Amino acid sequence: MNELRELYQQIIIDHSRHPHNFGQLDTANRTIDGFNPLCGDKLTLYLEVKNDCVENISFIGHGCAISTASASLMTDAIKGKTVAETKILFDQFHKLLTEKKFDVSLGKLDILAGVCEFPTRIKCATLAWHALKSALENQPEPISTE
Ligand code: ZN
Repeated sequence: MNELRELYQQIIIDHSRHPHNFGQLDTANRTIDGFNPLCGDKLTLYLEVKNDCVENISFIGHGCAISTASASLMTDAIKGKTVAETKILFDQFHKLLTEKKFDVSLGKLDILAGVCEFPTRIKCATLAWHALKSALENQPEPISTE
């Protein structure tokens, strides 16, 4: 289990140093800011939603390794998914972190499951996801985890 944990930590560090889908998205039709005051994580999420599908997604911002890695993994997981699939994934991911439910594998997102052992970091890991949910529900106000 320790080797696996080290591997997961390494993937989180890699994603935080070289996040995927990082940068502004010129074709975005939805943009939302998210803030986690507990840790100081800040991000802006860009989505291009067409025909009920998240065709493209990116983010900018700065925060701790967990928040950046989570946003990076999330954008990878969401790109190309329908809005309905995205909402299901949000619920599954939230459950994984808050209830430690492993009944379904979420692929690479499972890497973040270890965060549930550190309750104060859960908000770091879910910041990008809450921003995503608000963006899909067309709520333009910035979101805060508090
Ligand atoms: Zn954080």
